[in-house]
Amino acid sequence: MSVTILCYHKVGSLEDEGRSLNVRPSTLKSHISYFARKGLLFVTAGELAGEWPSAAACFTFDDAYSSALEHAVDLLGQFGERGTFYAVPEFVGLASSWDGERARPLAKWDTLRSAQSAGHEIGNHTLTHPKLDELADADVEREIQGAHDRLVEEGLHPGSVCYPYGAYDDRSLKAAEQAGYKVGMAVRPIAASPLLALPRVIVAYSDSLPLLLYKLNLRPLLRRTRALQKP
Ligand SMILES: [Zn+2]
Repeated sequence: MSVTILCYHKVGSLEDEGRSLNVRPSTLKSHISYFARKGLLFVTAGELAGEWPSAAACFTFDDAYSSALEHAVDLLGQFGERGTFYAVPEFVGLASSWDGERARPLAKWDTLRSAQSAGHEIGNHTLTHPKLDELADADVEREIQGAHDRLVEEGLHPGSVCYPYGAYDDRSLKAAEQAGYKVGMAVRPIAASPLLALPRVIVAYSDSLPLLLYKLNLRPLLRRTRALQKP
């Protein structure tokens, strides 16, 4: 019963996408290849609502950047595997205005639909990518339910929700549940509704395979050891 959930954003070269929230396609390929060679089952986020496999990997891509759809769909496909892409309906086909000066193109509806046809999940990343914990109650519901309705209108079947910036509160969890979701992606977990706020490991540009494995396996162990040594 263990699932490694990885959180990516852009997938491109340093020249095209920079270092911030980006990994090179060759880095992503080394990660996919490692988990595939280990025989782990690749699951989409929505599938975590059901029985958990004994060992699985869940590759998630926030914001559904054009570069992620372009490279990750192809690379996962090379191994016969699947991932989850979190789209922001109001910005589909436009640019990630929340990145400010580093705004990058976001995938179009057709691209999202063909990724879904290839077995990937297109998940709910809210209507406009706000910090949900800073909104009024009605806006929290509008962001999650509204995004769900738009995705469905466009022929997509979101099986999970992902809170922008990993920011959520009890109202976000309630809104997610009301919209019919059992699975939510965060960064830090919440004990009360574990499936609706699953912790993920954010993958950075410098996370070559050895560094990613250090992050996943060794660092938590070292932290725990340090914590135990505290008086
Ligand atoms: Zn995001």
